[in-house]
Amino acid sequence: MSRDQLLRDIAARHGTPFYAHFLDDVAARIDTLRTVFGGRFAISYAVKSNPARELLRWLNGRCDLLDVSSGGELQHALDAGWPAHTLSFTGPGKTRKELELAVSRFGGAGDESGEVVLESVDEAQQLAQLARAAGKRVRVLVRLSPTRVPPGFGDTMAGKPTAFGIDEEDLEASLRAIVSLQDALHLVGFHAYSGTQCLKPMAIVENYRIFIELFLKAIALTGCKPEKLIFGSGLGIVYHEGQEPLDIDIIAREINPDLDALKQKLPDTQLVIETGRYLVGEAGVLVTRVLRTKDSRGSRIGICDAGINHHLAASGLFGMAIRRNYKMRNISADGPAAGSYQLSGPLCTSIDVLARGIALSRLEAGDLIVIGTSGAYGATASLGRFISHPPVGEWLIDSDGVVSAN
Ligand SMILES: *Cc1c(COP(=O)(O)O)cnc(C)c1O
Repeated sequence: MSRDQLLRDIAARHGTPFYAHFLDDVAARIDTLRTVFGGRFAISYAVKSNPARELLRWLNGRCDLLDVSSGGELQHALDAGWPAHTLSFTGPGKTRKELELAVSRFGGAGDESGEVVLESVDEAQQLAQLARAAGKRVRVLVRLSPTRVPPGFGDTMAGKPTAFGIDEEDLEASLRAIVSLQDALHLVGFHAYSGTQCLKPMAIVENYRIFIELFLKAIALTGCKPEKLIFGSGLGIVYHEGQEPLDIDIIAREINPDLDALKQKLPDTQLVIETGRYLVGEAGVLVTRVLRTKDSRGSRIGICDAGINHHLAASGLFGMAIRRNYKMRNISADGPAAGSYQLSGPLCTSIDVLARGIALSRLEAGDLIVIGTSGAYGATASLGRFISHPPVGEWLIDSDGVVSAN
């Protein structure tokens, strides 16, 4: 059965709107990363990009590690069968409760425990206190925030005032303060993630070189023999017509020698590439039905049953500097573009617009519209409770076309 037929079947049987995630495509991305980097990197999946329970279960055993960004995600990961030692816990605003959870799940089990990624000295001090009170020692990584992010990243978290990580400018004093807590915190490595959604391979290469230099500086300052160095990947994906996919072969060709040189200096260190959208973004779609159409002042508008309550990102209101249409298709009518339309959601607000001037084969009530590149930052990053519509469905489709609900 073709994928479109499968989507039409799900719509007919279970209703719309829904997300569908094609697990084959996720598997292919994991394979690509393993192949091009030749095993130099372990793969860590950033849960926040798509925390679907069944997806986390499916990923267990397929990628190596998980990055969680909240106590809730930590718990989801454990519930999905991931052992604590495969988890790293990032986030600049971890609460006392979350740190306590990390101490109880991660602390005291030596190498078999996960890591808290420290984002500040203050957090380190609070975690140390909680670890001491529990009579435990917690494994930690320190997140470093470089002074510079190469141009080409769609979204940046370094090189400017930022909530994330230890600024390179304060490296020495901050690391000294963290090392002084070693009775309670076991420093096992470093982490950097300073930008994402980059489609320029050489900018990503340059970014990794910045990371390597900063990691080596931090290692020299602390005397840490790192077990782990995490590279926040920055790998971008194709959201819009006309975007060129990232050429990952160029990245690998350029950076693999640098990784080999790093390995030579640090033979016992695991290098980790951490990514969310690259693995799941293009593997997922949102399917929405056109509830009715309206011809309004020269424009034909399709009013859909999914809006920013289900897919905020498609509206351009999440992580996009300039609003551009996601790739969309009408799977109820074959054929070339017959017109250019606006697609709105069902919500009573003018910002609930999924597309403007989108070319489709037609636009009629009842048609099914498929929105591409919706596997990351979809339902989870939307305004789900706004205007009290039912939650969006979510389906996972495996290689045999078998569908399971999340
Ligand atoms: C969000 C996040 C990621 C994943 O980012 P993508 O753009 O989805 O690849 C990786 N690492 C950390 C620490 C994050 O917060």
